[in-house]
Amino acid sequence: MACDPRIICFQHCCPKNIFCKNVPETCPICQMYITKYIVDPFVVPYPYINAAHQSTSIVVRPSQGDFLNDYHSANDLHIGITNSEGIVFEYDKEGIIINDWSKWINCIALTIVPSCWEDHWNETLKIMLKDSKWKSENYDENSMNCFNFVLEFIYNLQYMGMTFISKECMCNKLILPKIQEAIKYNSLFKKLQINKCFVL
Ligand SMILES: [Zn+2]
Repeated sequence: MACDPRIICFQHCCPKNIFCKNVPETCPICQMYITKYIVDPFVVPYPYINAAHQSTSIVVRPSQGDFLNDYHSANDLHIGITNSEGIVFEYDKEGIIINDWSKWINCIALTIVPSCWEDHWNETLKIMLKDSKWKSENYDENSMNCFNFVLEFIYNLQYMGMTFISKECMCNKLILPKIQEAIKYNSLFKKLQINKCFVL
């Protein structure tokens, strides 16, 4: 990553959030030296993870570039699945790709099952990997892509009746809320590339 993506937040003299990379000596609101806080400085949770550290999850990243620096809400997303060992499985025009980990170091992860479902999760994945349906020849940009692979995986998993009737439905219900959090983080990050701190 080009620079430290850490963002710190605190409140000094009034209940307004002050965002910064390093806590300043004086408050940008009241200009006083900071000796105590209303809310102590804390690190804003970083929304991106390394898929290798995120077992038994659905993982999402931009098809091109990375979330923090290049992502806009209109960009295409790519989606995959990690097993209980954090190995990434994805379907694209080359067929099933296993553990192309360097492309998944800053992704969004969705945990949709409790840990007691790990074995069944792995088993469901294993069965799908054997299915010749997911050959490169069958790939279609619109009707047979990475989202279809995950959609079918969730269907086969049969967890608490969770299924999505379409890719759009899966995106809206499962992925979009997380993406919106990430976009918020990105906008804070961008502001701090121009300003030392700002009040929100
Ligand atoms: Zn102040």
